[in-house]
Amino acid sequence: MKRKISDLFIIGGGVNGCGIARDAAGRGLSVVLAEMNDLGSATSSSSTKLFHGGLRYLEFFEFRLVREALKEREVLLKVMPHISWPMRFILPLDKSQRFETSTPVSKLLNKIFPFYKNRRPAWLIRAGLLLYDFMGGRTILPGASKLDLSDSVEGEPLKKKYRKAYEYSDCWVEDSRLVVLNAKDAATLGAKIHVNTKVISANRENGLWRVETKNLATNEREVFLSKVVINAGGPWVSDLLLNILRVNSSEKVRLVRGSHIVVLKMWSHEKSYFFQGDDGRIIFAIPYETDFTLLGTTDIDHLDVNEEPKCTELEKNYLINSANQYFKSELKVEDIVWTYSGVRPLQDTSEDNATAVTRDYSIKVNQKDGVPLINVFGGKITTYRKLAESVMDEVDLFIPKIRGPWTDKAHLPGGDFSVGGSPKLISDLLTAFPFLNVKWAMRLVKAYGTEAFEMLGSVRNEEELGINFGATLTQKEVEWLIKKEFATSAEDILWRRSKLGLRLSELQVKTLQDWIADQN
Ligand SMILES: Cc1cc2nc3c(=O)[nH]c(=O)nc-3n(C[C@H](O)[C@H](O)[C@H](O)COP(=O)(O)OP(=O)(O)OC[C@H]3O[C@@H](n4cnc5c(N)ncnc54)[C@H](O)[C@@H]3O)c2cc1C
Repeated sequence: MKRKISDLFIIGGGVNGCGIARDAAGRGLSVVLAEMNDLGSATSSSSTKLFHGGLRYLEFFEFRLVREALKEREVLLKVMPHISWPMRFILPLDKSQRFETSTPVSKLLNKIFPFYKNRRPAWLIRAGLLLYDFMGGRTILPGASKLDLSDSVEGEPLKKKYRKAYEYSDCWVEDSRLVVLNAKDAATLGAKIHVNTKVISANRENGLWRVETKNLATNEREVFLSKVVINAGGPWVSDLLLNILRVNSSEKVRLVRGSHIVVLKMWSHEKSYFFQGDDGRIIFAIPYETDFTLLGTTDIDHLDVNEEPKCTELEKNYLINSANQYFKSELKVEDIVWTYSGVRPLQDTSEDNATAVTRDYSIKVNQKDGVPLINVFGGKITTYRKLAESVMDEVDLFIPKIRGPWTDKAHLPGGDFSVGGSPKLISDLLTAFPFLNVKWAMRLVKAYGTEAFEMLGSVRNEEELGINFGATLTQKEVEWLIKKEFATSAEDILWRRSKLGLRLSELQVKTLQDWIADQN
């Protein structure tokens, strides 16, 4: 049998793999991507969900990363205004707030001003925010400002001792939808996206890669030939190098688990909080899915890539205690309604402290017999598009005359409207489909943007949407997710294409599972 040869074979359907697939397909390359589970099922659905420069990275002098990430925020916001939106962060001030002692800035300050004794002075935070604003190249996001908490809605949920704060801008992003929409666009541009498909071997043969995959749902095996392989395995990048690609590499990843907890909504306004803990670490408290609050995260070394990351009791208590230092209302572990954890695939820079490891990425090319392997180490959700461009710069050396960069101005599917245009889109959707209510229309616009119209199609009333599985999830939407967004299970639909898992009862989940099983 004569096999088709692709230009690129990408291992891993996280944000980096799918971002690379989209970029490459748009430049006219033939692309195959294999993801062993669901798209975004590993780290890329477990982030804090921020397009951010990373204010704390300034204390590590990570200027390259912070500058790139800050500038990227508005580029990304404009091409996906449905799944991403600006967010203001309140940073309450208190004299006792401390540094992470390992940061270069804290070491420097301790030398010059020993009387600070590891305390992080307010002027330093102000200086950091000025730098953040200055480096960010903002045109949409408002700059940092001072805030009096003693007489403002933002101060209401906080303990009385917090009277002053700074506030600054970053952006929210629906991380798992970001992955899927990149994959969807890549497929529209001709890429072949295979989910539940594990790469089980990859060898260089006759000037090409011979990659073998196994479909974990059907056990079917398939062989692909490709000119270039891209290892975008995230936490598995080293494991893939060692066991599948069998390539010696001095680059290693350090696996650092981060967990989040979700509780019922704790305040009424839409801004988030940035808290500094006693240990010098920071945690975020963010409005989540309309009715909830998200708290995170932790930094704990995770030793076995194949061990599913879970939020431990220790991490739950840590996050609860951190929040309780700031909020008036006393949270308890029993208030937690959901947790999730992910493993950061960080470049191993031999730091003692997991919090101190760089969040920047590096692209390493391994070439043998003229057959290239491109490995992706590290990276942030925020930098996925720039990372894909860097990978394409390397691909360019092996597949000449490919087209230039294009993703900075190209909307993701459903994102072809202006930043701040969601209210108009919601109102148009309600006019076109009067049986929706505002909350429902808002959910659809935040998930699908302008594609919400196509998803609903020509239905004229609620009955025509088919079965209602609960919380406004209907058969029509489930069919769209299976046909157009690579979903294959109830979990894919309830926890990654949406977060309706927070709202459906066990019985409703079972009904959805049974319905999906009946379709096969
Ligand atoms: C707690 C936490 C909070 C974070 N918060 C933020 C944030 O707010 N903002 C931000 O910018 N970044 C954040 N990040 C970082 C960001 O989430 C990650 O850098 C990014 O998701 C990594 O994406 P990836 O595609 O490299 O890895 P992944 O998403 O893990 O994708 C790798 C994929 O490869 C697949 N794979 C592995 N082996 C095989 C194989 N043999 N065959 C087929 N497929 C395979 C896996 O199944 C996986 O889906 C956070 C990370 C964590 C853990």
